[in-house]
Amino acid sequence: MLIDKFGRVHDYLRISLTESCNLRCKYCMPEDYIFPASLPKHYMSADEIDRIAKIFIDLGINKIRLTGGEPLVRKDAKHIFELLSKYSSLELNDNPIKLTITTNGILVHQFIDVFKKANLHSVNLSLDTLMPDRFEAITKRNYFHKVLSNMHLLLQNNFHVKLNVVAMKGVNDDELTDFIQLTRDFPLHVRFIEFMPFQGNEWNKNKLISFKEMFDHASHYFEIVALENEKHDTAKKFKVLGHEGTFAFINTMSEPFCSDCNRIRLTADGKLKNCLFSKGEIDLLTPLRNGEDIIPLIVSSIEGKHQKWGGQELFDHSENRSMIAIGG
Ligand code: SAM
Ligand code: SF4
Repeated sequence: MLIDKFGRVHDYLRISLTESCNLRCKYCMPEDYIFPASLPKHYMSADEIDRIAKIFIDLGINKIRLTGGEPLVRKDAKHIFELLSKYSSLELNDNPIKLTITTNGILVHQFIDVFKKANLHSVNLSLDTLMPDRFEAITKRNYFHKVLSNMHLLLQNNFHVKLNVVAMKGVNDDELTDFIQLTRDFPLHVRFIEFMPFQGNEWNKNKLISFKEMFDHASHYFEIVALENEKHDTAKKFKVLGHEGTFAFINTMSEPFCSDCNRIRLTADGKLKNCLFSKGEIDLLTPLRNGEDIIPLIVSSIEGKHQKWGGQELFDHSENRSMIAIGG
């Protein structure tokens, strides 16, 4: 098992498939960001992703999330699902790993059957506004209706859908109740995420809406009950009485959940990040390609993990990658 010096067991791996995307969300991608060529040599190949995933599973990982950039723009995304689905198969494993994805939803209709075959546990879909014009202002692309119809397609196909909403003051803070209202008729799980600072995303404190502000606002309009949290839950969960779905707050900034962290990140170019905010990274891909054993590198990276926020006391995000290059 991968245990750090604070006793935290790391059993959740997030793998970024690409740094490219079909949207350009302001809060994630720097304005002057240039996409890498379609599948650069320094990216992990599908087979390398499979080999590294297996090594992590042998070290105790029981949940894998595919992310990016937009994971579904990668040309061999279907093949990667096929390769990883052997770990999530009930027929083959006593303890199948949970395979999940975070996506902006634009290409979901092309992957529904792939998701089913891969026994996908749940789908996190990102959507920050319910207004088409505002969607275009945030993402610089006109795909609102595609995302919304794919959200419904996932629900019709009985996927557990979590809707990720980055809450930003002056951008979408007036839509909090509209998102909660969506949970009335649909079994959706809306998650309001506090806006986090990354390289080039123009974060400042004034754009942050804290959990308390959001909670007070929601309680003013709805009769809310708190739900029980599971271990390692990063979200504080709630439900409006009588609603089908739930909503939650992910308070990375105002109430960091580092003390219970179980996450490891692997970037598309095969670098291990032991924390979303860590400045340092460990290259796993080069040694893997050289035929070296990467297990000692993984173990020492986890052992060296900082207690909180990647060891950054002052919230200095200038030496971290941008979110799109990390894999959210
Ligand atoms: N393209 C996919 C998507 O948008 O769902 C996956 C990658 S994206 C980087 C993963 C998640 O990170 C999304 O839910 C996105 O909203 C969130 N995210 C990106 N930048 C963020 C920021 N600065 N603060 C909070 N969440 C952020
Ligand atoms: Fe692309 Fe997702 Fe980042 Fe938006 S949040 S730019 S969809 S990777």
